[in-house]
Amino acid sequence: MSEWRGIPREEIPWFPTIHEEKCIGCQECITICKNGVLAFDEPSRKSKVVNPYNCVVECRTCARLCPADAISFPEAAEFTAFINARLSV
Ligand code: SF4
Ligand code: SF4
Repeated sequence: MSEWRGIPREEIPWFPTIHEEKCIGCQECITICKNGVLAFDEPSRKSKVVNPYNCVVECRTCARLCPADAISFPEAAEFTAFINARLSV
């Protein structure tokens, strides 16, 4: 299992959430992400998260590029609080 700042990656809740109701199926996010986090779901014609823990912690590139504002990440303050709490144990 890989780690980020000494924390096992799979214990870090950082990955995209696709809001299906907004996704227009353009696949920009799949093209831009080189880590295989996202894939196209043919039945729904939407993007889907398939490898959440391959997402680079604190990267938000796909969300920035999504033309439909259909991708979100944890709130920065909430995420920082989570990391600080983990690092202080
Ligand atoms: S970039 Fe946005 S709208 Fe396009 S497939 Fe990805 S989530 Fe859907
Ligand atoms: S945030 Fe970066 S690493 Fe994570 S899914 Fe989007 S483009 Fe890929």
